[in-house]
Amino acid sequence: MLPGERPPPRPEPRLTGRVVLPGDPGYDDAREVHNARISRNPGAIVFCQDAGDAANAVRWAAARGVEIRARSGRHCYEGFSVVDAGLVIDVSDLRGVRVDRERGVAVVGAGADLLTVYDALGQVGVTIPGGTCPTVGIAGLTLGGGFGLLSRALGLTCDSLLAVEMVTADGDVIRADEGEHQDLLWACRGGGGGNFGVVTSFTFETHPVSEVSIFRIAWPWAELPGVMEAWQAFAPCADDRLTCLLQLRARSSGEIACIGQLLGAGQELYRLLQPLLAARAAPSSVSIDTVPYLGAVGQMGGLGRDPDRWTVHAHQAQERYKNSSAYAYERFGGDAIATLSAALSGAPSSRCLVQLDAYGGAVGRIAPDATAFPHRRALWSLQYQAYWTAPAEEAENVAWVERLRRAMLPHVRGAYVNYMDAEIEDWPEAYYGANLARLAAIKARYDPRDLFHFPRSIPRPPPAAASAPPAARAAE
Ligand SMILES: Cc1cc2nc3c(=O)[nH]c(=O)nc-3n(C[C@H](O)[C@H](O)[C@H](O)COP(=O)(O)OP(=O)(O)OC[C@H]3O[C@@H](n4cnc5c(N)ncnc54)[C@H](O)[C@@H]3O)c2cc1C
Repeated sequence: MLPGERPPPRPEPRLTGRVVLPGDPGYDDAREVHNARISRNPGAIVFCQDAGDAANAVRWAAARGVEIRARSGRHCYEGFSVVDAGLVIDVSDLRGVRVDRERGVAVVGAGADLLTVYDALGQVGVTIPGGTCPTVGIAGLTLGGGFGLLSRALGLTCDSLLAVEMVTADGDVIRADEGEHQDLLWACRGGGGGNFGVVTSFTFETHPVSEVSIFRIAWPWAELPGVMEAWQAFAPCADDRLTCLLQLRARSSGEIACIGQLLGAGQELYRLLQPLLAARAAPSSVSIDTVPYLGAVGQMGGLGRDPDRWTVHAHQAQERYKNSSAYAYERFGGDAIATLSAALSGAPSSRCLVQLDAYGGAVGRIAPDATAFPHRRALWSLQYQAYWTAPAEEAENVAWVERLRRAMLPHVRGAYVNYMDAEIEDWPEAYYGANLARLAAIKARYDPRDLFHFPRSIPRPPPAAASAPPAARAAE
């Protein structure tokens, strides 16, 4: 440029990719989320075809002051991946999975659902420890932690995360890994979706897997106290290859059940389960099966031939629900068990339940500040769940979950960011614990204008705190 010459005008940012606007064919499908309790009307939805589309969308929204939300599998319990009048940056068309068997890594498009990921990896005999529901998006799951039936053996999904490609608040496409932007990678390992930028791809370490053994043990509902006693002594300290969860169903359903998976053979599983099988409470049914890994994924995800027996998540497409969560750091005494029993006795429907996911094993071997996911020392998570179909049933079901959550507070701590619940008042501490200050500093560095804002996004620290080095803050 010659002296005195004006720089050429910067091109106006514009939306690229597949753009769906109100009134367009397909707009209603495009704005829908998994939880039918939530209905929002974005001003535009961009289905990105590459990282450049996401970058253009971020710049376009920033230039206009339009609210943005990143979206992958649409499974946020509170629907925070859609926003009225704002721009949804949807990555669900980025669903390619490339596996490098030699290096033991896979690059996964941020819009892939879990079944796509498991299928592609399973074809070459590897996997990552993801969640149980086949339609959950890899992005939300990984960014918030990611628990599933391989977690006690292989860790949370975020523990296998090696790198992310992300579009930042400036519209730049960057890679965060152990060499560059390490703090951002740390934040992406459990710091929650939607906070720092739009992830367009994830690089994971993969793990060999062939056959697994799965089981389901059911008991009559009246055995709840005895089963709870036996389960809590067993599940968080069982053999690391064994992950299981306990479904305490509403009394009107008649039964409670423990479901799980061993990276190992059926006979060994039967032996390992003896503390549960020989407990004072006598099971009403016991099923054990050794199956190819992809078969187990299908069974547990409700896609198998026997969904009534195996399915972990009862969610169907387009149904209404309210879920909340908490963590047990100590075994429950009689009071906590009585509180659960009383709530399940008075539940509004037989579909209400409390699900306990056993931690320990590989989840607990990682330090609480080594990744953004803080609840490494928890014994198990609790998920308070209510499902219904008619809108008129909403108030009663939501109130049941909230009453139960509050009644359990003396016995639990914290909550899981991936089981988002807008009722939790102390959510920053509940989701992030002692990692909150470091997350807030990373937020201030990568998103100083808080472009990636939503009702439960990581708050920015006051400016003075943001300028201290992150390591010092983490140690505070
Ligand atoms: C039926 C069902 C089953 C589930 N099972 C499990 C389970 O087994 N284990 C478990 O740990 N959790 C489970 N969950 C919880 C699930 O992990 C979270 O709801 C998760 O956030 C969903 O991610 P998503 O991409 O599908 O949802 P979305 O609604 O698309 O996104 C969730 C959050 O992530 C953000 N986000 C999405 N994409 C991106 C992106 N590309 N870049 C940055 N941020 C992004 C969104 O803005 C939003 O804040 C389940 C949820 C449901 C509804």
